[in-house]
Amino acid sequence: MRRVESARSDITDEIPLAKRTSPSIQARSGSVRFLALSLILLGALVIALPLGFFPRYRGATLFFGLLQLPTSEGRLLGHYPYLEASSDDLISVYPGLQIHKDTYKALKSMRSAATADGINLILLSGYRSIELQRQIFYGRKSSRSQIAIERAKVSAPPGYSEHSTGYAIDLGDGSMRATDLEVEFESTPAFKWLKKYAAKYHFVLSFPKGNPQKVSYEPWHWRFEGTVDALRQFEPSNEKRRVLEPMD
Ligand SMILES: [Zn+2]
Repeated sequence: MRRVESARSDITDEIPLAKRTSPSIQARSGSVRFLALSLILLGALVIALPLGFFPRYRGATLFFGLLQLPTSEGRLLGHYPYLEASSDDLISVYPGLQIHKDTYKALKSMRSAATADGINLILLSGYRSIELQRQIFYGRKSSRSQIAIERAKVSAPPGYSEHSTGYAIDLGDGSMRATDLEVEFESTPAFKWLKKYAAKYHFVLSFPKGNPQKVSYEPWHWRFEGTVDALRQFEPSNEKRRVLEPMD
């Protein structure tokens, strides 16, 4: 017994005095500081990571987007998030119908050319605020007794509509109004003309048959891609198209 005790005492003696003392107050406040710093860093990460993943969101849209947990590509039910056009960029075509000024210029040229070819292109819909899109999406959905997944095939959730950008337009044929916003629009002279000439004015069919976003075919819905700002807005959608429909 004595030997063991003496051995223990020897070991204790080998430990430097500074290490044998209990942690000082200074050391404890050091770990509190470390803990606080870690918490701050963790908080910053929680805020910064979603912003990095979804840089297109802002304000309420960011909050809405996070609540809805979009996919890694930022999509929600197949639709991409879009910014609302600034009111300074919008032009009133007629009461209750506004579009982006750049869309307006291109549409004006396109309509003149169509008219010269005997085609009566009419503008059915343009810019929609996120609030209006909310009314359309949730209003129609509830009245038609559809769940969000079904509704999203024909209408985008608020914050996810191309119409919010002011670059998307719905077109009709003035000589065949019964085809307005119907798939039958594809058989009108206006649609045939658009298929041939719209690209010249930088208008692109957003939801062609079998589109990678799996949104219903909408022959009447065209988006303007004639500026870098417009292209930037539609880049996620175009990126997906490029991957699925490689160009030769
Ligand atoms: Zn549309």
